[in-house]
Amino acid sequence: MRIAMIGTGYVGLVSGACFSEFGVHVTCVDKDAEKIERLKRGEIPIYEPGLDDLVARNVAAGRLSFTLDLKEAMQGVDAVFIAVGTPSRRGDGHADLSYVYGAAEEIAQNLDHYTVVVTKSTVPVGTGREVEAIIRKVAPNAEFDIASNPEFLREGSAISDFMRPDRVVIGATSDRAGEVMRRLYRPLYLIETPIVITSLETAELTKYAANTFLAAKITFINEIADLCEKVGANVHDVARGIGLDGRIGKKFLHPGPGYGGSCFPKDTLALVRTAQQVGSPLRIIETVVDINDKRKKQMAQRIIAACGGDVTGKTVAVLGVAFKPNTDDMRDSPSLDIVPALQAAGATVRAYDPAAMHEAEKLLPGVVWAKDVYSALDGADCVTILTEWNEFRALDLRRVKALLKAPVMVDLRNIYNPDDMAQAGFVYSSIGRPAAL
Ligand code: NAD
Repeated sequence: MRIAMIGTGYVGLVSGACFSEFGVHVTCVDKDAEKIERLKRGEIPIYEPGLDDLVARNVAAGRLSFTLDLKEAMQGVDAVFIAVGTPSRRGDGHADLSYVYGAAEEIAQNLDHYTVVVTKSTVPVGTGREVEAIIRKVAPNAEFDIASNPEFLREGSAISDFMRPDRVVIGATSDRAGEVMRRLYRPLYLIETPIVITSLETAELTKYAANTFLAAKITFINEIADLCEKVGANVHDVARGIGLDGRIGKKFLHPGPGYGGSCFPKDTLALVRTAQQVGSPLRIIETVVDINDKRKKQMAQRIIAACGGDVTGKTVAVLGVAFKPNTDDMRDSPSLDIVPALQAAGATVRAYDPAAMHEAEKLLPGVVWAKDVYSALDGADCVTILTEWNEFRALDLRRVKALLKAPVMVDLRNIYNPDDMAQAGFVYSSIGRPAAL
C-alpha cells in the first residue's frame, strides 16, 4: 500500500515511519523546507527515542521518503493523512484549523484517483465534514472518501505507542474507506489490537474525550495532593489505594506542577469551546482548565517560599524544562510559567535540560543555561526539579549538597523520598507528601 503523510512533526513523522515499518510505502510532506532537507540528510528534527533508527531503516529499505511536493507524494496513494498542527486560536481558545483546511485545499488540487483523506490531527467535531466540503468545492468530480483516525501516541514513547496501541479509532464515511483503513492497520489486527470503527463525528469527539478525561484525572490527584499537605496524608499512598481499584486504574495519578505539553492544554480548551458553542457546556472541564492554569502559576510561589520567602538576588537552579522527560517539546510546559515568575521575583535562573535547551532558549530569555546538572547547581541558593528525566533520579546527593549554598530542594515531580532527603540533610519539599515521615 502507499500513503502520503502531510505534516512531518511529532505525529506525522512517527506515524509515517511506523506505517513504513508495517510495509507501507510512505511519503512524508512538509512545508518547512529546512525540516525536509534535514530529514533527507538523515537528521531527525525532533528528540524522540528510537526514531532515528526507525527512519534510517525504512529510508534504506526504500519505503520512506520526504518531500516538499504534495503532488509527487500523492501519486498512486491509497490514502493521504493530514497530520498538521491544530494549536489554540489566539483570543478564543478554539482549535485553529487553518493548517488543516489549507492541507485540504492542496489535497483537492492533486486528487487524480480514488483516495481516502484521513485526518490524524486532533480536530473538533465537524472538521472532517468541512474538509470534505472544501475538497468538493475545489474538485467537484474527484473520487475520495473522508476518514478520521485520531492519534493517541505520547511523545517520549511514541513509537511503541503507535506500534502497540491500546486501541485504534477509525471514523469512516464508506465501506470502501473503512476497508483501506483496515488494510493499513492490518499488522495491528494480527496482534489483536482493539479497533473501534465508528462515525466521523464519534471518532473526532473520542480523541477530545480521552485527552480531557486524562487532564481531569491529573487535576483530580493534584487537588488531592494539596489536601494531603493540609491534613498530613501521603498522596502516593492515596493514589495507590484508589488506583488498585480497577474502576479507577493506577495510571495518571501522579501529582505534579500541572499538566502541560502540546495536547492537553489546547485540547481541553478547544473541547470547552465546542461544548459551549453547541449549548452543552462541560463544566468539569472548564474547572479543570481553570485549576490547572492557576496551579502552574502557584508553583513559583512554592519555590520562593522554600527559599525563605524572597528570591531577590538569589540563584535558583532548575533541573528540566521540557513538559515531560524524553522529549524536547516545550509547548505549554509548566517551566514557561514557573521560570519567568521566578525571574520576575528577582531570581537568577540557571537551568539544565538533557534535550530541550535549544528550544527553551528561544522561549525563556534571561536564563543561564548550564552544560550539565552539576554546573547548574554550583553556587545556587536552591534547586528545583521541574521534569523527571531519568538522569535527575539518582543524583549524587553529597555532591549536590556541597555545590548548593543552602541544601534546599523543591521537587515538583516527587522523584526523591522525603525520609532519604531529610537524612541527607536537605530541606526538601515535594507535592502532597509530609516533609519527612
Ligand atoms: P507539529 O507542529 O510537530 O507538526 C506539524 C507539522 O505540519 C509542521 O512540521 C508543519 O510545518 C507542518 N505543516 C503545516 N501545514 C502544512 C501543509 N499544508 N503541508 C505540509 N506540512 C504542513 O505538530 P504535532 O505535535 O505533530 O501535532 C499534529 C497534530 O496531532 C495536532 O492536531 C495534535 O493535536 C495531534 N496530536 C499530537 C500529539 C503529540 O504528542 N504531539 C499526540 C496526538 C495527537
